Amino acid sequence: MHAESIPWYWRALDFEKLARDFPPPPDYFRTTFRMSRDELRALQEQRFLQTMRRGWEIAFFQRHWRDAGMEPGDIRGLDDLGKVPPYDVHHIRDSIERNPPFGDFMGISPSDGKRMPLVLQTSGGTTGLPRPMLYAPQDRETMAIMGGRRFALHGMRPGDLVLVTYALGLSNGAFAPREAMWHYCGAVPVMTGGGATTPTRRQIEIAKAWGVNVILGFPSYLRHMALVARDEMKIDPRSLGIRLIGTHLGMEDRRKIEDLWGAPCFDAYGTHESGMMAAECQHQSGMHVQEDAFILEIADPESGKILPEGGKGTIYITTLYKYGAPQIRFNVNDSSAFVPGTCPCGGTLRRLDRIFGRNDNMVKLRGVNVFPEAVGAVVAEDSRTNGEFFCFVDRVGEADSDEMTVMVEVTDPAADRAAVKADLERRMKEVLGVRVTVGPTAKGALDPYTGISQTSKIKRLLDRRKQSR
Ligand SMILES: [Zn+2]
Repeated sequence: MHAESIPWYWRALDFEKLARDFPPPPDYFRTTFRMSRDELRALQEQRFLQTMRRGWEIAFFQRHWRDAGMEPGDIRGLDDLGKVPPYDVHHIRDSIERNPPFGDFMGISPSDGKRMPLVLQTSGGTTGLPRPMLYAPQDRETMAIMGGRRFALHGMRPGDLVLVTYALGLSNGAFAPREAMWHYCGAVPVMTGGGATTPTRRQIEIAKAWGVNVILGFPSYLRHMALVARDEMKIDPRSLGIRLIGTHLGMEDRRKIEDLWGAPCFDAYGTHESGMMAAECQHQSGMHVQEDAFILEIADPESGKILPEGGKGTIYITTLYKYGAPQIRFNVNDSSAFVPGTCPCGGTLRRLDRIFGRNDNMVKLRGVNVFPEAVGAVVAEDSRTNGEFFCFVDRVGEADSDEMTVMVEVTDPAADRAAVKADLERRMKEVLGVRVTVGPTAKGALDPYTGISQTSKIKRLLDRRKQSR
């Protein structure tokens, strides 16, 4: 007989209260989404102070804040937010190294599973072990509400059948939308995962046979999928009846994907630690921030100074709902800006512009900052390519000159590669402000570098300057 009591999930939360605090759709559109700025500010004040109190219970924040000379009670409200020292992923890695294997930044550990149900997912993890993250019931369920709001903003409806092509595995990418959809959207998730879990041709067969009408995925895989359908299976992706696409555009041009699929494509922004922070409404004019659950700031990446509205800089995240691993001025290193003015939809929540790139992915090329994402946007414009690209950065010659070579896949074997090279090199110079070399190659040749057919964590850059040093 098992005598120990088990913390049942359905008892872990007051679900009615949660829905009042963080209204799911459709209530969301009558409440939080249209709240006056004053009312919203008052709500944020209260949740921010609660988050600061929680922060002082967690060893990581105690250390980080005390090192900066902060004492409990110093931060008396949102007006003091700028006094809280920011931190980034290096601080989190340091926390994990000091206190393996989970770090001391979460304030919970797996043994807390005795008193509350916990679930573990990770970051994507490009180098070394992925970073683990534990979610308490309050965290996980609020994240699901936030995901549900995202999908409802995009126009997802109860009864929609949704193909989820994010990687299935340790990372949160596919699991979070699954919970969001079936808990708070009425839509039915179809968890095919990425190409490594369900081959792309099979994904298309399933979409066709079952009448899938919504797809979620990253732009490059959405493009890859449409081209496999059109060119290899002779199925026009537009004939599949896809009604809408949820993605993370970054610098990609949505029109190409919309043309291929014959469906509108909506941008959204989230991370595995924070959940879904912002999403586009029908007007596709910036992503509404879920400001009852987050405060986002845009800071100058060098000085840390908060920028005026419209200024382009790095995002600082403060969560207003989390118990496990709250984030308080976390510098996530993604580059964006706020969209000034109001949205025609009538929503009062601020909008985030596209994500211009990751600051830690940024390459300094002869004094010019280059994001691989911006390179990708130029490649995707050219219909002689399939949008696939990979950047190599090298230090060459006696002058130690920094050079970037952008390999691109040319779809048509008969295409004039010299012309593709010349045209793209000219266009890149215009857009990036610095000269790069373009190397056209055959369709599929870059797969071993990018991993497009296998994973949704696609690589776009190899900086060989670091290896040669
Ligand atoms: Zn809107």
